[in-house]
Amino acid sequence: MPSESILIIGGGPAGLEAARGVADLGYQAILVEKRDRLGGTPDSANYAALTHGMRDASEVMGEMAAAVRGNPLVEVRLNTTVTAYSGAAGDFRVTLESDGTQKVVEAGAIIVATGFDHFDPGRATQQYGYYEYDDVLTLTDAEAMLKEKKFVKPSDGKVPERVCFIQCVGSRDRQIGNEYCSKVCCGIASKQAIEIRQLLPQCRVFIFYIDMRMYGYWENEIYWPAQEKYKVQYIKGVISEIVKKGDRLMIRGEDTTMNRPMEVAMDIVILSVGMEPSKGTKEIARILGLAQNKYGFIEPPQGSLDTVSTSVEGVFVAGAAAGPKDLDDTMGMAGAAAMKAAGLVRRKMSLRSSPPHPALSPAGGEDKGEGVLDG
Ligand SMILES: Cc1cc2nc3c(=O)[nH]c(=O)nc-3n(C[C@H](O)[C@H](O)[C@H](O)COP(=O)(O)OP(=O)(O)OC[C@H]3O[C@@H](n4cnc5c(N)ncnc54)[C@H](O)[C@@H]3O)c2cc1C
Ligand code: SF4
Repeated sequence: MPSESILIIGGGPAGLEAARGVADLGYQAILVEKRDRLGGTPDSANYAALTHGMRDASEVMGEMAAAVRGNPLVEVRLNTTVTAYSGAAGDFRVTLESDGTQKVVEAGAIIVATGFDHFDPGRATQQYGYYEYDDVLTLTDAEAMLKEKKFVKPSDGKVPERVCFIQCVGSRDRQIGNEYCSKVCCGIASKQAIEIRQLLPQCRVFIFYIDMRMYGYWENEIYWPAQEKYKVQYIKGVISEIVKKGDRLMIRGEDTTMNRPMEVAMDIVILSVGMEPSKGTKEIARILGLAQNKYGFIEPPQGSLDTVSTSVEGVFVAGAAAGPKDLDDTMGMAGAAAMKAAGLVRRKMSLRSSPPHPALSPAGGEDKGEGVLDG
């Protein structure tokens, strides 16, 4: 029996926006989140300010969560994951597990919004001493410090005089198998560089990059102000080693514009780690049997401009589960997934309620019934 409900897996920006969209279209959404809170990675990783507008991340995610929590058409289930499913488009039966208890729910369509994990810099061949030196951080560590408005050297609590970012850590790297660009880290490093300069005007900030990749508003709203207004210094270069010298970190590598070796002292080094599919994304892809690309992101049908369908009819994908995305891309995709899922459910429901086609009715000589049309 076709169901009018749409199951959304993941309560981050993509899942929240998809749930809101589904409810706006008049359908029932069941939003499943494995954590005990909504808000996704911006919430769990304590992001500071979010572009556009540099508003506090907790505030932005809190507003998005409130919009679904107060909606009678959205049922939120926290501490819940999906363990199995059966059925087909229009008529899925999905097993949800919460605190060891299993429950089967019916859904006409499913939207996967299970997001990303940050690349672990300890895994790379170039380790940059992340687990060795207290003053080597990741973008995520820096976000949490900026959120507290207290940006100091973790090793001794002193205010840093020189901070640098190293770009493309865990992305565009054939050796570790992540050849793709994570899309957001150039913009986020530039955003954090601005926040550091605002907080500590005396601190010099450098960004070492292979090439800067900005798109859309990131170029005008973040990249140019970082250089022109906040005097962040961008240096095209490859950093091969970080060593401790006294109470500072010595950065060694090559300035590729000048074609000469460089060695500079820093107080804090921030590794611009990329995005990888979350463990939850890989797990859900396995349970639902969804095609993934070689990195584990959920793959839309090849050669199609449909970015939200998957290899399984009736299962859609939104946000970073399908590849590195900023919030703009995530929101757009979530809206499209909500619309496609609602459209599919509407079609399946109307097939059920409309009388069978004469050619397929028993009187028409074919004893096939409406199930043929559903297939
Ligand atoms: C350091 C950093 C700063 C950033 N700052 C910005 C910014 O300023 N502006 C911007 O546009 N973008 C920014 N981004 C990108 C932004 O974080 C992503 O675009 C956004 O989080 C993607 O949302 P999502 O919902 O797809 O994934 P996520 O935020 O990862 O949410 C996925 C959710 O799914 C849940 N989940 C996972 N698996 C399961 C499962 N099996 N069952 C149930 N639930 C599950 C997770 O617990 C999580 O709540 C930043 C990224 C980084 C790394
Ligand atoms: S966005 Fe920038 S830092 Fe991130 S992988 Fe792409 S080029 Fe490298």
